[in-house]
Amino acid sequence: MNLIKRIFDLKGAPVLVAAFLVLFIAEGRRPLRKRNLPRGKRFFINAIVSLPAFTLLRFLFLPAMVKLAMKNKKLQWGINYQYNGHPYIKGMVAFFIMDYTNYLWHILNHKLPFLWRFHVVHHCDPDLDVTTAIRFHFGELIGSVFYRGAFVFLSGATPLNVLLYEIFFEGATQFHHSNWKLPYNLEKNLNKIIVTPRMHGIHHSMIKQETDSNYSVIFSFWDRLHNTVRLNVNQDVIVTGVPSYSNPDELTVRYLLKLPFTKIRPWNQVSGVRDVRASLPGKNNLAE
Ligand SMILES: [Zn+2]
Repeated sequence: MNLIKRIFDLKGAPVLVAAFLVLFIAEGRRPLRKRNLPRGKRFFINAIVSLPAFTLLRFLFLPAMVKLAMKNKKLQWGINYQYNGHPYIKGMVAFFIMDYTNYLWHILNHKLPFLWRFHVVHHCDPDLDVTTAIRFHFGELIGSVFYRGAFVFLSGATPLNVLLYEIFFEGATQFHHSNWKLPYNLEKNLNKIIVTPRMHGIHHSMIKQETDSNYSVIFSFWDRLHNTVRLNVNQDVIVTGVPSYSNPDELTVRYLLKLPFTKIRPWNQVSGVRDVRASLPGKNNLAE
């Protein structure tokens, strides 16, 4: 467990905190979408909601993943233990497997009602910025231990692979949730490889058809591979959130923490929000 301290606590965590601050400042200076609520209020709500999830991430999720990877090393069962290759190549293979299966996990979070109960806490944020990246219900994290653990085992990821992937995963999540307006051409090029703020902004739309797209986490090509990509939506027409959970007065810390254990409302309960929108031409234009 010393490895978690050495890699995650002493190297990853400071980098992630610095990245959070840089993105927080950048999105304040160059916002991509208009805000609905004051920044400070949302920061407070998202930070408190994230506390149990972060505690579990550090003291349950990471130790569980590292233990599984160590067990696998002894048993030599995973894919990476079945061939000879440079550790860098094996690290890349494990990285791709973990990222691809996280894309599938994200789809399951939207399609399976039991998982949506928890993921809705993240999606009902009325704005999208770097603080949304930490707004996850702790229940979602507990569920992911079993799913993601299975693929750590299957891939044959080493404990170091697991920790490095987690650092990149958290960093990418902060980046693509941020409300930072990158130069259009830069983002268009970046988006060929990784998920960017405009791409993920569409995934947080109140239009169901748009939420049901762009599930990738780090690499954007999983969505292209499975035809779940949607880039032809202007950011200024996106209304962020979930229609049936769109009353900001209701979305208190207390309410959000108990939300998964209440009767979940159907998506489109608010009148006036359509389920589909006429698409702009071309699926891959990352509209301005
Ligand atoms: Zn989602």
